[in-house]
Order: sequence, then structure tokens, then C-alpha cells
Amino acid sequence: MRRRTMAMFFDPAGTRYGVPTWPWRMAPPHLLTRRQLAACGLRPGGQPIAGQVLWRSRRYNAPGGVRAAYLYDVRLALPKRIASPAQRAALAKALTVRRTCPECGTDAGYVLSRHLGVCLECADAWEIAS
Ligand SMILES: [Zn+2]
Repeated sequence: MRRRTMAMFFDPAGTRYGVPTWPWRMAPPHLLTRRQLAACGLRPGGQPIAGQVLWRSRRYNAPGGVRAAYLYDVRLALPKRIASPAQRAALAKALTVRRTCPECGTDAGYVLSRHLGVCLECADAWEIAS
């Protein structure tokens, strides 16, 4: 990166841009973009943006040839939303239904083949009978 660009985008106090600003890859290690948080299984969790990184880009028709990514404080980040107990119960119930054979009424222990529609034992019994 050119020295002039780095100087222009280097504003850790936010006096020029209103928010603390660093050139790409020069932000403090505890400040991450949303994408970087996601890679760690985290989300911003409603915190305000802690800063931004700016870099020159010719792609995406960036205004003024400058692109920005907001930064979030990893110490305030939360784990990615996981299913609530009710959602997990609903999912478990749906899976139980898909494992339960309509012919013999037992939980086969696996999701039934949509092709057969019954457990393998019942399918075998049909084959033997026919
Ligand atoms: Zn069965």
C-alpha cells in the first residue's frame, strides 16, 4: 500500500472520519470486521461500531475508490445465535417423526428412507411376503 494512502486512512482518534479509522490490516487486533467475527463463531451482538478500516479499491464502484468495513470489539461480541430450547425441541420432534416407522410404529433410530417410507425391517418383510 502506498505511504500516502496509509497516512490518509490512519485516524485512530477518529478526528477526520468521525470514527476511529485504520488502513486495511492495520487495525488493533481486538477489532474485527463482521466477517472476521463470524469466522470465530461470533457476532457483533448489538454493540456500536468501534471503528472502520478503509482501503482503496477499483472494484464494486466504491465511492471515491475507497471501500470501508466496520469494526467491532471482539471483547463485546457474542456467540452466534444458537437455537432456543423450544426450537431444538421442535427440531428433535420433527426428526423423531421422520425416524418413526408408520408400519410398525417404532423409532428406527435413523431417518426413514423417503423412497421406502417404512423402516428397513418392514421393507424386508414386504419383500419376503411378496
Ligand atoms: Zn417398521
